Amino acid sequence: MIQGEEMQQAIKVLAQLPGFGQRSARRALLHLLIHKDRKMAPLIQALKTCHDTIVACRMCGHLDTVNPCHICQSPRRHRHQLCVVESVSDLWAMERTGSYHGLYHVLGGVLSAMDDVRPEHLGLSRLIERVDDLQVEEVIFALNASLEAQTTVFVITESLPKSLKITQLAQGIPIGGELDYMDDATLQTALQRRGVL
Ligand SMILES: [Zn+2]
Repeated sequence: MIQGEEMQQAIKVLAQLPGFGQRSARRALLHLLIHKDRKMAPLIQALKTCHDTIVACRMCGHLDTVNPCHICQSPRRHRHQLCVVESVSDLWAMERTGSYHGLYHVLGGVLSAMDDVRPEHLGLSRLIERVDDLQVEEVIFALNASLEAQTTVFVITESLPKSLKITQLAQGIPIGGELDYMDDATLQTALQRRGVL
């Protein structure tokens, strides 16, 4: 074995990270070993701090050092809007827009028969409870356009009060997109959901 047991173990763990494979894991480890003081030590420290301090918010599922998270605690956030996202990275994407000022619910996945993800795994009862407690007026679905995500939207919608305003992010042509390159379904949706100028 060229790398030895210790390095093999590190490569094995690194290779399980999203976007990593065996090759990138080997390269990352080698890079860290060459720059032990400058790169590896700060990485170990930063990861340890995150490990020790970051928890999932019991209200919305966001990751933060406080529980409930800063968003759930903030008096500046609109409590009548709840945005449903699949993952924390999607929440971060929404926050980067600076245009949304309501609260969130992080599902942690979407319904999937193949991966055995059922409604109870997505904290649906917590979502329904919060809609009631906060007297939410609008639930905004900000999920991916996959079939599983759309099924998830349908299932959740069925469990929510009928009086609630339920919306989802617009689907259609991205900014800077060219019509000629759009797939038929995208173009069709954009036409159906066209807006008045
Ligand atoms: Zn929260």
